[in-house]
Amino acid sequence: MRLKDKICVVTGSSRGIGEAIARGFASEGAKVVITYSTQKERAEEVAQEIGAELVLHLDVRDRNGVRDAFNKIAAFYGKINVLVNNAGINRTADFDKQTEEEWDEVINVNLTGVFRCCQEVLPFLTDHGRIINIGSLSGEYGGPRTPSYACAKMGVMALTHNLARFLGSRGICVNTLSPGIIANEFTEATMAPSVRSLLDNLLLIKRAGTYADLVGGAVFLASDESAYLTAQTLSINGGAWVR
Ligand code: NDP
Repeated sequence: MRLKDKICVVTGSSRGIGEAIARGFASEGAKVVITYSTQKERAEEVAQEIGAELVLHLDVRDRNGVRDAFNKIAAFYGKINVLVNNAGINRTADFDKQTEEEWDEVINVNLTGVFRCCQEVLPFLTDHGRIINIGSLSGEYGGPRTPSYACAKMGVMALTHNLARFLGSRGICVNTLSPGIIANEFTEATMAPSVRSLLDNLLLIKRAGTYADLVGGAVFLASDESAYLTAQTLSINGGAWVR
């Protein structure tokens, strides 16, 4: 019960990593708000299974919609303790083939979407609260076949640093949780087999990561145990790089 009664909002928690984090938070006693952009039924299933009281549409591209969602959460719970900015997309292409439309789409969801959610949560975020931004090995590694995605995720790390400076005096910790290669449909759909095999060969732990590998880190960053950890990147990637 490391998150007992903490109000935790996870963007994009209808499936994938966001769903896994929401389930992990609920199992630690949090009151989790499930949000989705398209998969309403899936989100409602997840909410029912973990006993979440609120399921909301939250499209991070829509400023008014984001504001409306946080207002609803605040009206229901009166405060927000933890925000996980997880919602994300990818549009894979070599650098010279990435279109400007793809670039704008990915930056809008993966970087500006995080900026929007962070601004709109501020009036409701408690002192000693937490913001966890989901980064990516791609952001730390420069792609390889994801220029817009890599830049958005590197941008998320800079946003984390800047916001941690802004909120530090309130005891609010802002960190990036940066997953490596996670085995799911998202990864399968967006990563060339040759790239995956190259990265698999580089990993110190010789397997792709799973959702379960990420949940413990997310719980730690949301919990009181991480009160002195801010403006950092927690890279859970099987040892994809060594400093
Ligand atoms: P999935 O595609 O499985 O899930 C994406 C989630 O984001 C869904 O809940 C989806 O909602 C939501 N979403 C998509 N677009 C929007 C939007 N415009 N507004 C709000 N929500 C949106 O992705 P993953 O679980 O794999 O990825 C989650 C995060 O982890 C992303 O930030 C991704 O970049 C990052 N990541 C993933 C890795 C991986 O290997 N899987 C590796 C490193 C980082 P809906 O279902 O309603 O459409």
